[in-house]
Amino acid sequence: MKTYVIMLAGGKGERMGAPVNKILLSVCGKPVIARSVEAFASFADEMVIVARPEDRPVILSALEGLGLSFPLRFAEGGNTRQQSVLNGLRSISPDAEDTVLIHDAARCLVSPETIRRVIEGTAESGACIPGIPASSTYKVCGPGSFVSYTPDRSGLYEIQTPQGFRADIILPASLRAAEEGIVCTDDAGVLEHYRIPVKVVRGEPANIKLTEPEDLNRARNILEGAVSALRIGMGYDVHRLVEGRKLILCGVEIPFELGLLGHSDADVALHALMDAMLGACALGDIGKHFPDRDDQYKGISSLLLLKKTAHILDDHGYVLYNADITIAAQKPKLLPYIAQMRENIAAALGLPVERISVKATTTEQLGFEGRMEGISSYAVCTVTAKK
Ligand code: MG
Repeated sequence: MKTYVIMLAGGKGERMGAPVNKILLSVCGKPVIARSVEAFASFADEMVIVARPEDRPVILSALEGLGLSFPLRFAEGGNTRQQSVLNGLRSISPDAEDTVLIHDAARCLVSPETIRRVIEGTAESGACIPGIPASSTYKVCGPGSFVSYTPDRSGLYEIQTPQGFRADIILPASLRAAEEGIVCTDDAGVLEHYRIPVKVVRGEPANIKLTEPEDLNRARNILEGAVSALRIGMGYDVHRLVEGRKLILCGVEIPFELGLLGHSDADVALHALMDAMLGACALGDIGKHFPDRDDQYKGISSLLLLKKTAHILDDHGYVLYNADITIAAQKPKLLPYIAQMRENIAAALGLPVERISVKATTTEQLGFEGRMEGISSYAVCTVTAKK
């Protein structure tokens, strides 16, 4: 069974007051149409974008780089939503059991959960639309904006898209409605007219339709709330203490009779921090990114590797927010160097020093740290998605 998506992108967006079709505007650096199309990436087997011919080149360039795995075609936008839907439906040839999802491209914040609920509801009921139960009181008004009556709020829903239909239900109903001149404001309305049951499943408040200029701000706020979600990482590292090596911790060279053994400068604390940063993004560990067989990392300053790690995060859309490092060493006393350690890290990452914490502890002479055979370090950090 296949899923066909009809993406309605034909509006002129007059209420938005922008010189271009609103679906071509950007929200948080990405065009509305790209967000809408991408939302269906793991559900669509085929997609038809219903749009005005003059918007097609811009839509195509907005979709560049999305790496879509399904075929995508265009159909001509109509004068009304219903006509546009019909043009889209005419351009596909699904099997009877296939699912057709009809979506307003201006609802670019639709979540995978909502899409999944609609697809499942369609499989069960043949026709399924997402809705939010009314929480306000609604009034139906007559001429002169005088209230005619107050509809019962229980059972009243605000309806969203995507609306889902089995192909052998929506196609004949839409064609018949077109022939008979039946006008509806949404796709389910056509089915209601012919008394075909339509199931409502839970939609989402965030699945707003961008209509007025202030909706762009709402969308931005919703997205920024979502991307500021934190990811947590933790790292741990140990290096052996030996004679004839420098002791370097968080980029500070500390005078001491022993130093840490390793391929790089063996900065155990920064290694723990880098592992925490990579771990927060599920990007592996420093061994994967800076293999100790590689000569270019021999004796390298770990502060340099820390900067490279920040770049790796950046490439994947993440940025370190804060970090807390603990160094477990019996000797030497590290307190005099803590301030410089924090500054080194903050400077390497371009972060305020208040976001970087470094602490030191002994292990009460217990374990390998206590016997001064080695130094260990733990780090935790949080990472946010770049805005
Ligand atoms: Mg290490």
